Amino acid sequence: MHLFAVPDLPEIGPGDDLAALISERVDLRPDDVVCVASTVVSKAEGRTADLADFPAGPRAREIADRLADLTGDEKDPRFAQAVLEESVDLLMEAPFLLTETRFGHVGVNAGIDRSNVPGGDLLLLPERPGESAERIRAGLSGADAPTGVDTPAATATDTPAVLVTDTCGRPFRHGQRGVAIGWAGIPASRDWRGETDRDGRELGVTVENVIDELAAAANLVAGEGAGGTPVVVIREFDFGDHAGSDNHFREIEGDFVRQALREWDFD
Ligand code: GDP
Ligand code: MN
Ligand code: MN
Ligand code: MN
Repeated sequence: MHLFAVPDLPEIGPGDDLAALISERVDLRPDDVVCVASTVVSKAEGRTADLADFPAGPRAREIADRLADLTGDEKDPRFAQAVLEESVDLLMEAPFLLTETRFGHVGVNAGIDRSNVPGGDLLLLPERPGESAERIRAGLSGADAPTGVDTPAATATDTPAVLVTDTCGRPFRHGQRGVAIGWAGIPASRDWRGETDRDGRELGVTVENVIDELAAAANLVAGEGAGGTPVVVIREFDFGDHAGSDNHFREIEGDFVRQALREWDFD
């Protein structure tokens, strides 16, 4: 496979039609995977906000005070309020806020971004990135009407797949990398279970999360700074003849690391 950034995209603002902007600049092929940084999806969807939109409640003030005590830096309680309002579960509140967003993604500060955000203090993640991906996909020129949000069968159509990506940290390792937070037209994973390795041993557990792997590659090309390349096309990626699965965000029941966090007292 190979990857390239879509050239000459403008500064994105509320109401912009990302699918049209992409289609005008690239002749997409049916088996392309179009990776769109959540930053521009959020800007197009009007997810810019100001700290003033989030008057801090008591819980946010408590969190900000504690963070300030721990780090020695003043923390704006309105930022903590914004994170709380974007989240359905608080996994850690110190020394940083780790939460689950409404759509199931766990990340620091609910993925609220403060870089590449003109015209606002904050950029919230798209409300439902899966639906954003589906909408962008439906608008790509020459695209057939897609059939549903999470149908592995969608790979069989002749429409490019779309990923919505974000740059995200991870536990246990330094540094950040791209992850997929929304996807359409491609299964989240390819399931190797039941296939064999080179010694003929059957693979028992390997479910390879393809959309994060593709998102990481795309993020590498998109960059993090002033490059102006939020959309990356992956060409000639071959999903291969494997079963697909759309499991991506773990449910708390099967997430033992998250369960262990719940039992940990951070004081
Ligand atoms: P995130 O990973 O989704 O948080 O996005 P980043 O802030 O890391 O930006 C990814 C890429 O998109 C970088 O190359 C930025 O320069 C670029 N970018 C961000 N916003 C815009 C925009 O409105 N227009 C264009 N053309 N590029 C943008
Ligand atoms: Mn950013
Ligand atoms: Mn981001
Ligand atoms: Mn980034």
